[in-house]
Amino acid sequence: MIDIAEAREYVFAHCPAAAPVPVPCREATGLVLAAPVVAAEDVPPFANSAVDGYAVIAASVAQAPVELPVVGEVAAGAHTSHVLQPGEAIRIMTGAPVPEGADAIVMVEDTERIDGGARVLVRRAVQAGVAVRHAGDDVREGTELYAAGTVVTPAVAGVLCSVNAAVVSAVPRARVAVLSTGDELIDDGSPLQPGQIRESNRTMLLGAVRDAGCEAVDFGVVRDDEAVLEAVLRTAAETCDAIVTSGGVSMGDYDVVKAVLSRLARMRWMQIAIKPAKPFAFGILASGSRDVPVFGLPGNPVSSLVSFELLARPALRRMMGHPQADRLQVAAVADEGLPRRPDGKTHYVRVTAAFGPDGRVHVRSVGAQGSHQLAATSMANAIAIVPDGDGVATGAPVQTLLLSVV
Ligand code: AMP
Ligand code: MG
Repeated sequence: MIDIAEAREYVFAHCPAAAPVPVPCREATGLVLAAPVVAAEDVPPFANSAVDGYAVIAASVAQAPVELPVVGEVAAGAHTSHVLQPGEAIRIMTGAPVPEGADAIVMVEDTERIDGGARVLVRRAVQAGVAVRHAGDDVREGTELYAAGTVVTPAVAGVLCSVNAAVVSAVPRARVAVLSTGDELIDDGSPLQPGQIRESNRTMLLGAVRDAGCEAVDFGVVRDDEAVLEAVLRTAAETCDAIVTSGGVSMGDYDVVKAVLSRLARMRWMQIAIKPAKPFAFGILASGSRDVPVFGLPGNPVSSLVSFELLARPALRRMMGHPQADRLQVAAVADEGLPRRPDGKTHYVRVTAAFGPDGRVHVRSVGAQGSHQLAATSMANAIAIVPDGDGVATGAPVQTLLLSVV
């Protein structure tokens, strides 16, 4: 058995970040910038009104209440060439350019239309500058907005659009092939024949791959047939950046997956000192000039998921240049004991996690911890890392990987 740290190191060393590509800003959300972005434009591009109201010269309304003639109107998207004179008002909408000469906007709530809008009663004085959004007060042209390595969140993508960074250099989204192996697996809803089970890992892993920010490609359930499996793996390698398989990697009997992968790829068959998910295979399948990582996850559904979390997910995120490739890890409080026996392995216990009134994350076991008991694990939003030994006592801290904590 090898340490999980050694396994991760080996895998990550073979999963470098992909070469950057140009990506339209409208498709960049979730990707990582490969080059800094410098603003080519001011945002906003011109001084505009923060409210619906009347553009004035502040001095004209210093003695409010005061009545002013309304000499024009400017809506968002329009502009006026009228230069505002002392004692005048121009009706203005949010986002419309502030007319030349005006230095403040009186909000419509502080006014009253008179003579059908020909005049306006301003009830309150305003300071110069009020409700004027100046050119560049969001983004100043020439500033470096984002460094290389920035994750494009929805808001970042919005900013990229706002400065007309129409195409950015980003690490591409990995296309990841997912396939399940095993003659016992049924996924067409038909009645189960003796020995058959319904296939679940593929759908779970397709979702997990997407959740990791990758594009998931479904390669189906592959029978335990060497020729078929070989053909599917070759196609997957030709069309995808990584391959995730489930099943057939355990120690023991001759296995089709083992035979085929060993022939096609430079594989390392691992026994990792963890529970669940001890068996794990990783290798590189050379397809033309490309090296395609293959993650051979165990078939037991919980093992498959934990294996994906600890090894495949962070590797895929590294391939996409993510600065935060791993799940967040916190020292949580065990609200109940997480007992175990020494066995030379680190146990990854599926737990529910929630913030307590003390501001710390508290965890409880989801119950059934068998590697086939996916239903219990499906209730988990975190995984507690219980080191070899006798377990964690009630109230004691336990390092915990957060999958999602709300
Ligand atoms: P294996 O790793 O292929 O030896 O499978 C270990 C266990 O996981 C067996 O009980 C399989 O039936 C089960 N298993 C394998 N693949 C899947 C799958 N895709 N969905 C559900 N269970 C599976
Ligand atoms: Mg199998």
